[in-house]
Amino acid sequence: MNILLINIALRPESKVKLFPIGIGYIATAMKNAGFEFDFIDLDANRYSDKEVERLIQKKTYDVACMGCIVTGYSKVKNLAEMVRKYHKNAYIIVGNSVATSIYNILLSKTEADIAVMGEGDITIVDLLKTIDCGGDLKTVKGICYTKKNNIYCNPCREPIENISSLPHIDFSPFNIEEYIANAKEQISEDGININRNELRALPVNTARGCVANCTFCYHNFRGYNYRYRSMESILTEIREMITKYNLNYILFGDELTLFSRKRAEDFADAILESGLKFFWNVTCRADCFIKDSDLNILKKMKAAGCVSASFSLESSNAEILKAMNKHILVEDFSRTAELFHKAGITPSTSLVIGYPQETLLTIRDTFKCCAENRIYPSAGYLLPQPGSVMYEYAKEKNFIVDEEDYLLAMGDRQDLRLNMTNLSDQEMEEEVLAGLKYCNELLDIGLDQDHLIKTQYYRKAKK
Ligand code: SF4
Repeated sequence: MNILLINIALRPESKVKLFPIGIGYIATAMKNAGFEFDFIDLDANRYSDKEVERLIQKKTYDVACMGCIVTGYSKVKNLAEMVRKYHKNAYIIVGNSVATSIYNILLSKTEADIAVMGEGDITIVDLLKTIDCGGDLKTVKGICYTKKNNIYCNPCREPIENISSLPHIDFSPFNIEEYIANAKEQISEDGININRNELRALPVNTARGCVANCTFCYHNFRGYNYRYRSMESILTEIREMITKYNLNYILFGDELTLFSRKRAEDFADAILESGLKFFWNVTCRADCFIKDSDLNILKKMKAAGCVSASFSLESSNAEILKAMNKHILVEDFSRTAELFHKAGITPSTSLVIGYPQETLLTIRDTFKCCAENRIYPSAGYLLPQPGSVMYEYAKEKNFIVDEEDYLLAMGDRQDLRLNMTNLSDQEMEEEVLAGLKYCNELLDIGLDQDHLIKTQYYRKAKK
């Protein structure tokens, strides 16, 4: 059976190339089960459409697998069409949230045949074995599929309870040096005492899912319990990666890494005890560290190599935070930021602008709050994700009329696609740019006008 695995480039115009951790787990599961495959990495290589077409025709494929987050729907649709043009009878399998959250649209409006629902590590192997031996798709848990223009959904697959038992990612199918060298484009914080050009980083996944349930968010582990790996399993993987790839920085690429003080302290203690030396960044909750005594935990994290921590404010307006279901208080966010600053760890945050309650004043206050806490925010507009509360709201209020049109235009959250406020697009965009400009000048960040919102295109220039 000839299998093709494709990694999609979600932002081909960006300098940043994020290692695709989900595809990494799927490729590892396929390899460990004995399935050989050809791999086209569109993100690492940024092929032109012509080159992609040439690679796809290289041989006759029986199966083509791809997947990404739902904002990449248009790319999946185009790619599936291209695969179908040359491989009439191939099974086209799609995973991640572009499958899970919109399987109906995916299976009815694109050339995809099978949507892998939720976690795919076990499902992909079961599915490939079934296809290989000519079995019946209805026996495979965790998929939806099309047959004679009908869509069938099989029972869900049970979540993997112990994610420490998952095999470590096998990086061999990837052009890993390209990702390691490029990773410095994602690293902008201070406090790293090595030359930026010598940074060698890769992501490590320590947890699946999130303890929160924000109304604008959808991720592929939504609906699963939050699960996290043992420190032993995480550090064994990091040790292997450092030895093999000479890494000096680990990007903890989870929705949420540090969910409690205890986890944070255990995390720092385990890294210190391991003797491993690397810098790292991490995600946590905005209300995780608010007591005076928490500073000791943050100092330990700093001693263990932590240089940056991300925790989301999203908005400084209490009514909007309630609508987001964030369950955080602005004073807790400020206290957490203060303690991270004191510990010498760079805090960062993200904003979601454009809830229906948003006004010019709420936008202004939110940027003021960031500036007061000495954080230049990663700002974006509300881009309702299918499967989220705000997506249903947008449909109900007729902001989204044709779902596929909306999905085809989704793109980056930094581009205003859907305005559900009483402000005009221009008013909102101007206020956001004014807020970013204010933070930029006050905090002396040094961004030019074109990079105030799309900061990832700038990072290389930062020394
Ligand atoms: S936005 Fe962040 S905190 Fe909220 S549910 Fe999604 S991953 Fe969790």
